[in-house]
Amino acid sequence: MTDIPRKIIPLADLRYASRIPAIPANLLAPTGLLSDTLGRPLRDLRISVTDRCNFRCNYCMPSEIFDKDYAFLPQSSLLSFEEITRLAKIFVAHGVEKIRLTGGEPLLRKHLEVLIGMLARLQTPQGKPLDITLTTNGSLLARKAQSLKDAGLKRVTVSLDALDDAIFRGMNDVDFPVANVLKGIDVAHQAGLAPVKINMVVKRGTNDSQILLLARHFRHSGAVLRFIEYMDVGATNGWRMDEVMPSSQVIERLQAEFPLAAIDPNYSGETAERWRYLDGGGEIGVISSVTQAFCGECNRARLSTEGKLFLCLFASQGHDLRALLRGNFADDQIAAAIGPIWQARSDRYSEIRAALPPDASAAGSAKRIEMSYIGG
Ligand code: SAM
Ligand code: SF4
Ligand code: SF4
Repeated sequence: MTDIPRKIIPLADLRYASRIPAIPANLLAPTGLLSDTLGRPLRDLRISVTDRCNFRCNYCMPSEIFDKDYAFLPQSSLLSFEEITRLAKIFVAHGVEKIRLTGGEPLLRKHLEVLIGMLARLQTPQGKPLDITLTTNGSLLARKAQSLKDAGLKRVTVSLDALDDAIFRGMNDVDFPVANVLKGIDVAHQAGLAPVKINMVVKRGTNDSQILLLARHFRHSGAVLRFIEYMDVGATNGWRMDEVMPSSQVIERLQAEFPLAAIDPNYSGETAERWRYLDGGGEIGVISSVTQAFCGECNRARLSTEGKLFLCLFASQGHDLRALLRGNFADDQIAAAIGPIWQARSDRYSEIRAALPPDASAAGSAKRIEMSYIGG
C-alpha cells in the first residue's frame, strides 16, 4: 500500500481562542441600553458570512499564507442563516440598529439574498427597520446588486484600491480587472443601493498615486469615496508604519486640487471624518484608524463566520455564541449571557497602540484575528 501524504487540518474551533459564555442565574431581559466599561453603547453588528474570498489583497489575505492548502472553515462550522438571524434578533433587542454583512467576500456565500430578506424583517424595539448594509470587493456586484436590493439591502460599500488596471490587478493579486468592479458600482447605483460608498485602503508606495485619480473619477457621481489608513490588523500582512499614509496627508493632496470643507458626522460613533468639495462635487471621508484612533466612540461588535463574538477588531479572544445556539439554550438565556459580555468590554486597542512607538503592537503575544475571518 502506498503512503498517501496527509495534511493535518486544525480544528476550526482551535483557530482562535474563545470561551463559552456563562448563562447567568438571573435572566435579565435586554433593555436596549447596554453600556460597556467606557460608557459605549452597542449599536452596530458586523457579521462575517464567509472566511473565503476570490481576491488575495496583500494587506488582508496575502497569497503566500492563504494558498491552496489553507484550511478555510468547513461548511458545518458556519452559522446557518437561521442561526445568524436568531442572534441578530437578540442583538437588536440589546440595542443594535445597524447590521453590516462582510467576510471574506460576502457575495461568495450562496443565497445571501435569503439572509438579507430574513434580516430585513427584523425591527428595533421602537418598531424601526434595521439599517442593513454590506461590504464587498465588487467582483460579483454587477450580477447581484438588483436581487440584493430586492431582498431588502439598503446600501453597499465597495472596496476599490486603484483605478489603474495594472495596480488594481496587482493589489487583488488574482489579476481581476478594475472595469468589472466599476461596472458593479454602476449597477449598484442604478439599483438604488445608494449612496454607494467606495473604500480605498491607502498603502504608501503601492497605491497612493491613485488618490487623486479616484477622487476625480467619483466626484459628481453620487458615490462617497473614503480613504482608509492601512491597519496593523491580523498577523500575516507584514504591516509597517512607514506604509501608512496618514489621512491628514491624503486631505492635503486633495485640497491642492479640490478645496474641501469639513462637515459634521451623520451620527455619534461614525468612523469616517466627512469632508465636502466646495464646488458641490459631493462628499468624501477619511478613516484614520491608525493616526487618530476612534475607540472612544466604538459601538461595534463583530460576529465571526463560525459564531464567535469579538468586541474589537484587534481582539485575540472570542465568545463562542454558536456553542449556546447549538446547546439548546433559549433566546432569553443567550440574551442574558451576551449582556454582561458587552458590559465588561474595555477594548481600545488603537488608542493604546497610538501611545506606543510607531511600529509597536499593543497586542502582546496573543494570536490576533485576521480581517478576512472577522470582516471589516
Ligand atoms: N471582501 C470584502 C471587501 O473587500 O470589501 C469585505 C471584507 S474586507 C476584510 C472589509 C474591508 O476591510 C475592505 O474595505 C478592506 O479594504 C478592508 N481591509 C482589509 N484589510 C485591511 C487593512 N490591513 N487595513 C485597512 N483596511 C483593511
Ligand atoms: Fe478579500 Fe476583502 Fe480581504 Fe481583499 S480585503 S482579500 S477582497 S476579504
Ligand atoms: Fe473599536 Fe477596537 Fe477599532 Fe478601537 S481598535 S475602534 S475598540 S475595533
